[in-house]
Amino acid sequence: MLQGLIAKLAVQHDLNDAEMLQLLTSTDSETNKLLAAAADKQRRAVYGDAVYIRGLIEFTNYCKNNCYYCGIRAGNCHVERYRLTKEEILACCAEGYALDFRTFVLQGGEDPYFTDERMCDIIRSMRAQHPDCAITLSIGEKERASYQAYFDAGANRYLLRHETALDEHYGMLHPASMSLANRKRCLFDLKEIGYQVGSGFMVGSPWQRPENILADIRFLQELQPDMIGIGPYITHAQTPFADKPSGTAEQTLRVLSMLRLLFPYALLPSTTALGTIAPNGRELGLQAGGNVVMPNLSPVSVRKKYELYANKICTGEEAAQCIVCLKARVEAAGYRVVVDRGDVKR
Ligand code: SAH
Repeated sequence: MLQGLIAKLAVQHDLNDAEMLQLLTSTDSETNKLLAAAADKQRRAVYGDAVYIRGLIEFTNYCKNNCYYCGIRAGNCHVERYRLTKEEILACCAEGYALDFRTFVLQGGEDPYFTDERMCDIIRSMRAQHPDCAITLSIGEKERASYQAYFDAGANRYLLRHETALDEHYGMLHPASMSLANRKRCLFDLKEIGYQVGSGFMVGSPWQRPENILADIRFLQELQPDMIGIGPYITHAQTPFADKPSGTAEQTLRVLSMLRLLFPYALLPSTTALGTIAPNGRELGLQAGGNVVMPNLSPVSVRKKYELYANKICTGEEAAQCIVCLKARVEAAGYRVVVDRGDVKR
């Protein structure tokens, strides 16, 4: 029965709502295996065994927002806040370039210190230093004019997870000062400007039901992003959700495989959160349809301070050590890290 649904999804790259919910709610242990096998076949057809690496530079943990799930929310007074200087960011890029990275991701909280002028200056310097690399930003919700300015300065890609696609659930995860409508507006602005856009959501976030994941899928079908980032929600003790359980690797892997079949061309990261919740989580993510990993290039001295969730992995090692370990893990899983910008293959 489910085998038939998976075969149908693999051919049509879509299912109706009832069929989708059937897959999302199946408790049959074979389902994940069948889905992963179909997803891996699809991924190999488009991307072969290539795994793209993105160097993640967590350049500020200051944030003006108060998302209830996030460890670096403004209201968490236990966080030791930091910002990297432009010189530190450029040093991370130079180190990353020598380690074969051709994409740099600047991620941070929504930090008002980094005005458009400062961001554009950083982006222009990165662009001048690495003309052959992709520059990705992940710095939250901005005005369209700001996104345009970053793009004109040399940024190519933008990651902004929609987090959850139904207003009611969005309102349960965020304070009233934030809105799903604005987040969606941002995503469509980014696409129109010409960015390669990544969106996505957490799996197992508090009060999430299968119907929510279905709505997330339908929203992504509307947006048609180039990249889709999903990872398990992981509880952070210093948030209002301290008593809420984390999501599971199993559910995340299932949704990841479904996304590969729904979006054959998509760049799908096997996320650090997945690697945190299960010992071989990132390897399993690759085998379930993922084709991107985002190792940390931030200076080791700040890594523990960028704690979105508990027990985040890879916070203790230098980038060079990390990449050696990661390459071995990727190869053991049956894939190959390539030196490539890793643009989307539409
Ligand atoms: N400020 C930026 C970057 C956010 S951090 C922005 O708004 O886009 C990147 C992602 O981490 C978030 O989009 C969210 O989906 C995820 N995240 C935050 N807290 C988390 C938690 N407790 N568990 C798992 N993922 C989390």
